[in-house]
Amino acid sequence: MLEVTDLTTAYGGLTAISGVSLSVSRNEIVAVAGANGAGKSTLLKTIAGLERARSGSVNFAGADIGHLHAHLITAKGLAYVPENKRLFPRLTVRDNLRLGSYLHRKSGDREAPLEFVFKLFPRMQERLAQRAETLSGGEQQMLAISRALMTRPALLMLDEPSQGIMPKLVDEIFDAIKRIRDTGVTILLVEQRLSESLEISDRAYVLQTGRVLMNGAAADIRDNPEIRRAYLGM
Ligand code: ATP
Repeated sequence: MLEVTDLTTAYGGLTAISGVSLSVSRNEIVAVAGANGAGKSTLLKTIAGLERARSGSVNFAGADIGHLHAHLITAKGLAYVPENKRLFPRLTVRDNLRLGSYLHRKSGDREAPLEFVFKLFPRMQERLAQRAETLSGGEQQMLAISRALMTRPALLMLDEPSQGIMPKLVDEIFDAIKRIRDTGVTILLVEQRLSESLEISDRAYVLQTGRVLMNGAAADIRDNPEIRRAYLGM
């Protein structure tokens, strides 16, 4: 479904990712892990059309999307939840969700995906009239994921969904990611929490200073001695 080939992205003289290749098949959960500054966010931003690659290609659902603007990439069914969530703080939960479904404004059923979102995060239904800025960190993350789901994506990219969230809600978010996949949405998940993300992923890539250090089945990555030592503290 997603095929990234030899992708290189730089900020001025600093090469953030270099020759990264990665693939995601339909209905997989694929994790991208790595330390601070390894290039994980840059990889997602480049796929989402928010950064331009110096070289390499991004193919999604059979089309080259490497040169497309971010909003056209979203329209093709590839949704992205950035690390900073980019919610509209003064708007209510309901209005943030409605803005997510603008792609369907012509079809007249902008609120149709709401039912799906409420089943996934009942808390969102309880907080519909609340301003986004007054939600807890975990609830804001749920709202950011929910808003992305309102675009009815085929593939959902999540950047560090567990960041800044209390432990109880982290489990809830990871559980929700599994359930989103079970509804037929493919997931590309960037996480520093390697151990937890390997538990819900089919496959994983480990980035180190902008390059793919290792990739494989989640179970193999978890059992790899180098990974256990360097990333899992074992
Ligand atoms: P983290 O887990 O800390 O978010 P990351 O793996 O997502 O890290 P990136 O955010 O992709 O890593 O950063 C990769 C490298 O690119 C880092 O050295 C970072 O300082 C640099 N970088 C990221 N964004 C920019 C930018 N807008 N301008 C200049 N350098 C940047």
